[in-house]
Amino acid sequence: MKPVQKNDRLLVHVEDLTHDGAGVAKVEGYPLFIHGALPGEDVEVHVLKTLKSYGFAKMLEIKQASPFRVTAPCPVFDTCGGCQIQHLSYEGQMTFKRKLVRDAITRIGKLPDVPVHPVKGMENPWRYRNKSQIPFGSDNGRVVAGFYQNRSHDIADTDICIIQTPEADAIMAALKKRMPEMGIEPYDEQTHRGMLRHVVVRKGRATGEIMVVLVTKKKKFPQAEKAIELIRTLVPEVVSIVQNVNGEKTNVIFGNETITLWGNDVIEDRIGDVRFEISARSFYQVNPEQTDILYGQALEYAQLTGDETVIDAYCGIGTISLFLAQKAKFVMGVEIVPQAIEDAKRNAELNGFTNTLFEAGPAEQVIPRWYTEGKTADVLMVDPPRKGCDEQLLQTILKQRPKRVVYVSCNPATLARDLRILEDGGYRTQEVQPVDMFPQSTHCEAVAWLELAE
Ligand code: SAH
Repeated sequence: MKPVQKNDRLLVHVEDLTHDGAGVAKVEGYPLFIHGALPGEDVEVHVLKTLKSYGFAKMLEIKQASPFRVTAPCPVFDTCGGCQIQHLSYEGQMTFKRKLVRDAITRIGKLPDVPVHPVKGMENPWRYRNKSQIPFGSDNGRVVAGFYQNRSHDIADTDICIIQTPEADAIMAALKKRMPEMGIEPYDEQTHRGMLRHVVVRKGRATGEIMVVLVTKKKKFPQAEKAIELIRTLVPEVVSIVQNVNGEKTNVIFGNETITLWGNDVIEDRIGDVRFEISARSFYQVNPEQTDILYGQALEYAQLTGDETVIDAYCGIGTISLFLAQKAKFVMGVEIVPQAIEDAKRNAELNGFTNTLFEAGPAEQVIPRWYTEGKTADVLMVDPPRKGCDEQLLQTILKQRPKRVVYVSCNPATLARDLRILEDGGYRTQEVQPVDMFPQSTHCEAVAWLELAE
């Protein structure tokens, strides 16, 4: 018998926060997930749904608030799915993220003694995103734009998003207002009609250069000139306006065809001293200020003296590789997306690096082949997607035994799982440094440093 039933009203004490930001209270050991509740709070709830081993409840009233509770400054925080923890002070967010890493390392990694340092956060944790992908749509004949609501494709309509740049706000609001008179129809996902699907705004933090991408359903876009004029007058820092055509019935943002409408094909940015050219569809870290900190940490853990060869697995457009190439003898990067490898090669050239090599392919296949060709590494850097390292790649590491491994992770649970495997194979985790790349959201990035035991 479950200790609570649907429609029960009860007073509970919130103990924890899930990795997606819901409060957790336990009723006789049975967890209830409560959207909007914070650890330490006493709240009155209404039980919405009960499953076998957990349930969901709605918060009715906060009887005792957490000292870390703040009023979320965003006007659409309650409906928008972009941020999850604006109602938690930044200090509270730092504590939460450190605990998330600490708990994963202890419970999943079984490494209770590994130091997990306080999170390196931002001095000003707002307006940090250098890229905004803004969906456009309509609601009863009115143009709406903003970000998707939680677990849905309805748009939370807004004129400001305080984690994106002011320029993106300005472009979003002005286009929305002026589209009807310019004759640009927003795209409708249900009927597959209309023109403008998404507007993507990217800004080089170090250079100030801005690119605007208009994702349209059709290539023929007669109102392009009007849109260009509006954008250029509004934001003079725009150096590139690009059209991307996506005629598919899909929730993937970009289509295959990209046409430069005005200005440059790319914008430039710098992370530390390394320059990057970014095109409309290139993958690039969205919080460059913190990327500098994250890569700085990875570089510190790599402890390069100039004699080392480094392998950067999951290298993307080579951001970490090029950062390391400043201090290493040689860097080899591998990444599964061929276009990203093209970008990496171009960026290596742009910076004049001659000590790098990039190859497209699955890391778990390319790295073993490199070893058979005598291309070995002293330091192995990995920065895998959320699902963590491929099992075969971990086995390759254990077989080839580079003396140092630096693991950049965007998911504490898979980081902890992989650390356990590497520990069992003879590595020792020295320390873990969380870095806050995504303030106001529950996402948590961390760097771990491992050494091969003697
Ligand atoms: N280090 C980069 C990108 C990290 S994101 C940066 O900081 O910018 C993770 C990358 O791993 C993505 O670019 C993804 O395309 C790539 N990837 C996913 N599976 C892979 C695999 N099996 N082998 C190599 N790369 C892979």
